[in-house]
Amino acid sequence: MLNLVLFGPPGAGKGTQSDKVIEKYHLTHLSTGDLLRKHISEGTALGKLAQKYTDEGNLVPDQVVIDMVDQKMQDTLDTNGFIFDGFPRTVKQAEALDELMNKNNSPISGMVSLEVPDQELKNRILERGKTSGRADDQDIAKIENRIQVYKDETLPVVNYYQNQQKYFNIHGVGGIDDIFNKIIEVLDRLPT
Ligand code: ADP
Repeated sequence: MLNLVLFGPPGAGKGTQSDKVIEKYHLTHLSTGDLLRKHISEGTALGKLAQKYTDEGNLVPDQVVIDMVDQKMQDTLDTNGFIFDGFPRTVKQAEALDELMNKNNSPISGMVSLEVPDQELKNRILERGKTSGRADDQDIAKIENRIQVYKDETLPVVNYYQNQQKYFNIHGVGGIDDIFNKIIEVLDRLPT
């Protein structure tokens, strides 16, 4: 199994690259942002709890997200592997993910981090906000908060995977296919 963590700040292009990776490697997409938005649009209890965090660009509490991921993994029976997109976003989530993967005898193969300068992130998110309908994409203060939350709470996750020799960073500015080709180079060298 190929189990990939696709990592990077908001607006780094994780969703775009996930689609391409899934097409080539037939992985199961597990995007916590997408799962949370689905709960919010369906008005579930989890969605109601999550919305006050997502609207402001703050992180939803770890245990809520971890339980949601656990459930999604249990619901997925046959797969070549998972691509985790937007998760883990804290060290606590990374530890919980390792536990879930160990339970399934299927460790994380590697973490690919897309690196993009802040100004480029802001431009991309504001552009996406014109069509995404997402409250957190349309307000510069919320976007800046998301980038700050990323630096404060999420960046330490890099260290976590570096310590396991599973961290690979890729420059995330340029053509979509050029970036994808760099991701392929990393994935084709990972143990499966
Ligand atoms: P982006 O990467 O553009 O910020 P996402 O769709 O990944 O967008 O996430 C949107 C929002 O959902 C985040 O700002 C956060 O509030 C919430 N969220 C998503 N994933 C997580 C997570 N793993 N832990 C906590 N909150 C999360």
